[in-house]
Amino acid sequence: MKQNYAIIGLGRFGGSICQTLVDSGQEVLAIDNNEERANEYMNVATHVVVGNAQDEMTLRSLGIRNFDQVIVAIGEDIQASILVTLMVKEMGVPSILAKAQNEYHARVLEKIGADRVVHPERDMGARIAHQMVSSNILDYIELSEEFSLAEIRVKNKKFFNKNLLEMDFRQRFGLTVVAIRRHNGEVVASPAAEEIVHENDHLLVIGNTDEVDLLDEKLN
Ligand code: ADP
Repeated sequence: MKQNYAIIGLGRFGGSICQTLVDSGQEVLAIDNNEERANEYMNVATHVVVGNAQDEMTLRSLGIRNFDQVIVAIGEDIQASILVTLMVKEMGVPSILAKAQNEYHARVLEKIGADRVVHPERDMGARIAHQMVSSNILDYIELSEEFSLAEIRVKNKKFFNKNLLEMDFRQRFGLTVVAIRRHNGEVVASPAAEEIVHENDHLLVIGNTDEVDLLDEKLN
């Protein structure tokens, strides 16, 4: 679906979001008060504006309230990040994603109405640590405090060439298999209980984080 996005702050995080959104065909307005930063994105974003987002008039004149999604990607300057998020919220933007520097910053952003708060360094650290301690888990994403999504490779022979029902997946692991990625790259989305799991297949599972954490032990 095509939507229009405004990104405030073109550091490593905002810049990467900008590039990826444009690559996937989305319209992006990018704002940064640093002229050099803004210039780097002249040929990437749909529109680039050099301006201070803490200035309400600047945000109004850019018609920020008409954007479907606003990404507040101001890093170091926590005060600016909070003030800008608050103004964007008051202007009635339907969806705001904000980047947090630390836990306190994250809590403030949530309180003032950011719809999604991300903490890239912490989230990436947790993701990599899960992959490191587990021999079966290839990737791990925390969806909320309660739920996680994990990509696993089943290495234990006792599970090969069995279907999900025979593996007793839901009962045994308390998790739902949302997709199977075959060795040849084919993806079976929402697999039926009769779908067979082969050696080297990857399973994408979703469920309670406590159950995901126990998965490695149960699979060995
Ligand atoms: P990252 O960790 O993602 O690299 P940075 O703090 O380096 O984050 O980048 C934040 C970006 O936001 C910088 O390019 C900075 O110029 C920009 N920025 C900071 N404050 C404002 C503001 N008030 N208005 C517009 N852009 C801002």
